Amino acid sequence: MVKTKLVKMSLQKKIALVAHDNKKQDLLDWAKYNRGLLEQHELWATGTTGALLTKELGIKINTLESGPLGGDQQVGARIAEGVIDFLIFFWDPLEPLPHDPDIKALLRIAAVWNIPVACDRSSADFMISSPLMGKEYFRQVPDYSDYYRRPVLPG
Ligand code: PGA
Repeated sequence: MVKTKLVKMSLQKKIALVAHDNKKQDLLDWAKYNRGLLEQHELWATGTTGALLTKELGIKINTLESGPLGGDQQVGARIAEGVIDFLIFFWDPLEPLPHDPDIKALLRIAAVWNIPVACDRSSADFMISSPLMGKEYFRQVPDYSDYYRRPVLPG
């Protein structure tokens, strides 16, 4: 059996919003429609996505660096630190992007810490309307203590 520990997600989720250029309009439309729900939470975004959302929605968003310039990695780091616990990431499945390793890294780190991730609009609809949004939630994170204690030196 996999050992896990429970990590509390409070009533107010710490949501990161990221959209690739071809998906920005989609995210903006989605966020406008869900503005009332989103503003109940703590919002984060990569640079350009955050600037657009701030302008269009007029709500407070903690904006990081632009994705290809390190913003995706900043979101990932904050997930590892527990500062962000929810990811809406509309990535573009039809265009190769220069920061592909960062995109993979962000999706990977979200899975490492078992945070909810929506990669398209219908998943985001299901997630934002979940009854769990209005509650505290304890997510099961693998207990990495064996990993921290793994032998790394010979003998
Ligand atoms: P952006 O970054 O919001 O700064 O455009 C998004 C991304 O490409 O990861």
